[in-house]
Amino acid sequence: MNVSPFSAIPPITQLSEDEILFRNSVEQFARDEVAPRVRRMDEEQHIDAALLRKLFELGLMGIEIPEEFGGSGGSFFDSVLAVETLSAVDPSVGLLVDVQNTLVISALLRWATPEQKKKYLPRLASDTVGAYALSEAGAGSDAFALQTRAEKRGNDYVLTGRKLWITNSKEAGIFIVFATVDVSAGHKGITAFFVEKDTMGFSVGKKEDKLGIRASSTCELILEECVVPASQVLGEAGKGYKIAIETLNGGRIGIGAQMLGLAEGALAHAVEHAKTRKQFGKALVEFQAMQYQLAEMATDIEATKLLVYNAARLKDAGMEFRKESAMSKYFASHAAERVASLAVEVLGGSGFVKESPVEKLYRDAKIGKIYEGTSFMQLAAIAKIVL
Ligand SMILES: Cc1cc2nc3c(=O)[nH]c(=O)nc-3n(C[C@H](O)[C@H](O)[C@H](O)COP(=O)(O)OP(=O)(O)OC[C@H]3O[C@@H](n4cnc5c(N)ncnc54)[C@H](O)[C@@H]3O)c2cc1C
Repeated sequence: MNVSPFSAIPPITQLSEDEILFRNSVEQFARDEVAPRVRRMDEEQHIDAALLRKLFELGLMGIEIPEEFGGSGGSFFDSVLAVETLSAVDPSVGLLVDVQNTLVISALLRWATPEQKKKYLPRLASDTVGAYALSEAGAGSDAFALQTRAEKRGNDYVLTGRKLWITNSKEAGIFIVFATVDVSAGHKGITAFFVEKDTMGFSVGKKEDKLGIRASSTCELILEECVVPASQVLGEAGKGYKIAIETLNGGRIGIGAQMLGLAEGALAHAVEHAKTRKQFGKALVEFQAMQYQLAEMATDIEATKLLVYNAARLKDAGMEFRKESAMSKYFASHAAERVASLAVEVLGGSGFVKESPVEKLYRDAKIGKIYEGTSFMQLAAIAKIVL
């Protein structure tokens, strides 16, 4: 057989040996540690503290943190693999790991000073959850209309305002909070700060009671004359806009991975059911109409995987990935909703009840089109690049 000159280029979805080992260890963890807790965590709307400790022990809360700071020294693609694999079992756990790695740690690695890295990275790798606080009641899609103020007083900034919808806030010890140092400067006033949970004037408010990803905490943050030293500005004053946008460009690939994993989990349940459930004297999977539905779901998943993996690999390669990131999140969230919906139908009545994992995956899928920029915002970003 002739060896093609292109054989040296690995297919996008081919994993290296290290990636396979890593994915297998996360898969086993998801099976042994996450799966038995999913239902209870969803009902009780919280992440089991013992599970959180185990996520730290396995290194999943500091995937890209260099080993010198106690992290796993992995790649962005490894974070994507972890989020995908965990989300196949519980998208809430996938999101916890996603925000920690693809938003908080990514922003820190890119923009923090050496002192800030020394201060925060070992904590984030070992026992501290991070949160990323941009949205406000009046600033969602129009995120840079934010009203939280940061007034400079001597060597400090005094933060006042409210943040809304902040993931991980119940568990978090470190928050990246976006505020404006000068409302009249528009987006040029926006600045990112590290705010620690026990800072005077800072508190975590009401927790939202949600349709899906119920174990993941989503809360309001209240800042009342919250004093933060100037040394806790991330990047530079006035550069928060760039930090927020560039971090979210990567974060969206993480949400794509969450939706990819969710769809894979839903398909696995659908296939298992179709192979065991008999009607008209045959297993459901023997009917061609059923096979076609499962094939359609698998095709949606393969297309999603190509988009998500390609965007992640582009990011790791230091190449342009903004368009691919927006496309991966857009497509993945739509595909996940389609696949989870079909999975409920494949399971029939037993897919519609709480005992069924697909009932939860269907509820969990909806958020993919909303956070880290709604689907319309992804289309706007794609249009800006391609037109
Ligand atoms: C569970 C959950 C977790 C979250 N976690 C975080 C977090 O950790 N950190 C954080 O900062 N934020 C977080 N968010 C906030 C999230 O990013 C916002 O909800 C999202 O950006 C949408 O903003 P909004 O809810 O204000 O909706 P809006 O911006 O009010 O949008 C409502 C609708 O109008 C559409 N729309 C808006 N503008 C336009 C336009 N110009 N043209 C056409 N259509 C438009 C939108 O696409 C959408 O369909 C979270 C939200 C949820 C629900």
